[in-house]
Amino acid sequence: MDVKYDLEHIWHPYTSAINPLPCYPVASAEGVYINLETGEKLIDGMSSWWCAVHGYNNPVINAAMESQMHKMSHVMFGGLTHEPAIELAKKLIGMAPGQEWVFFSDSGSVAVEVALKMAIQYQYSIGKKERCQIATIRSGYHGDTWHAMSVCDPVTGMHSMFQKQLPIQHFVPAPQVPFGGEWHDEDLEPMRKLVEEHGKELAAIILEPIVQGAGGMRFYHKEYLKGVSKLCKENGLLLIADEIATGFGRSGEMFACEHAGVVPDIMCVGKALTAGYMSFAATMCNQEVAEGISKGEAKCFMHGPTFMGNPMACAIANASLDLLTSNDYGNGLGWQRNIFRIERILARELAPLRESAVVNDVRVLGAIGVVETKYPVNVGEIQKVFVKHGVWIRPFGKLVYVMPQYIITDEQLVALCDGLKAGIRYLEQV
Ligand code: PMP
Repeated sequence: MDVKYDLEHIWHPYTSAINPLPCYPVASAEGVYINLETGEKLIDGMSSWWCAVHGYNNPVINAAMESQMHKMSHVMFGGLTHEPAIELAKKLIGMAPGQEWVFFSDSGSVAVEVALKMAIQYQYSIGKKERCQIATIRSGYHGDTWHAMSVCDPVTGMHSMFQKQLPIQHFVPAPQVPFGGEWHDEDLEPMRKLVEEHGKELAAIILEPIVQGAGGMRFYHKEYLKGVSKLCKENGLLLIADEIATGFGRSGEMFACEHAGVVPDIMCVGKALTAGYMSFAATMCNQEVAEGISKGEAKCFMHGPTFMGNPMACAIANASLDLLTSNDYGNGLGWQRNIFRIERILARELAPLRESAVVNDVRVLGAIGVVETKYPVNVGEIQKVFVKHGVWIRPFGKLVYVMPQYIITDEQLVALCDGLKAGIRYLEQV
């Protein structure tokens, strides 16, 4: 593999072109393993950023992809439709609370752009033209495109660099009461105050329900989510739930909103939807939003990407969702009890790290385990330790975290945690 060419010409995410973080060449991937060209076999702790939940090179998804490829790889969605898209819409609407319309797009960031446009166009269409701003909470992450970036945490999203061009949105402090902690109503106060002061200019509130991912790997209290939903309903705002990372079981419920029994007006999904096979996403909305937009001045929703409803991606998503809902994962447990199995093992294995002098916090929710260190870690150096111990973990800042594949066995998961612990031991020594 011409790794030198990669080093000299290919951008990798969030790293320097001239002094990049190390980059490991992958020859293949199978089940929970990533096989490096240099011979190492690594247990994947990241599910390739929340996507590959059913394992790499999955025979069921491979077969669905191949079968669809021979029928049609793509047709435009303007004026045409097909079975994979209809089947997928039925599945998604059947699973996602309160959602009745699906807009298919190409990536999570685009799904968020679509959601924000839907909210603003809805308010415009029902005669509330002044409602054109968005509110959100700090420590959030919603993607890297322009408006998605405008609702990411302003510090980690580096808003100052783009300040003059970025749309100004309203931010309130991130919720402080953790998931499962003792609820204090004051946690909601900043959001209440914002809605009181700016409610009439707001189209929607967007947030990641319960789990804030790339903005801080934080788990917040379900009463917060309930409270935000109530505020939205009482004040004519739409609630946008970004379930791109949390959707499809990751936090222990099919959608994280369900921890709080909250039904959003608009919901974004992506990542695990296509199980790591293709970039694909969907923005769903309720009947009121769809009707409001369609009865307005434009009579239609103003968006239509080239690869909208791509049949290959839909066929893969159908196979992935079938696996999720019908497969026993080889141990007879089904998706939810498998998530609880992973949660129990992560909690048990990672708990001793609370005693470490370099660790600030250990938290686990569903199939997500987070070790927050006291100081930012040197990613390049700690990754060498992980690779040496046969695991693939990619920390950022002070966060060393894993969100393993749902198919991981107990033994593989213990080995993954052992690798993570080796990384922490390394930090204790430097
Ligand atoms: N929203 C959330 C919550 C995410 O975690 C991500 C991706 N990390 C996105 C949106 C953006 O998705 P994509 O990278 O597919 O554009």
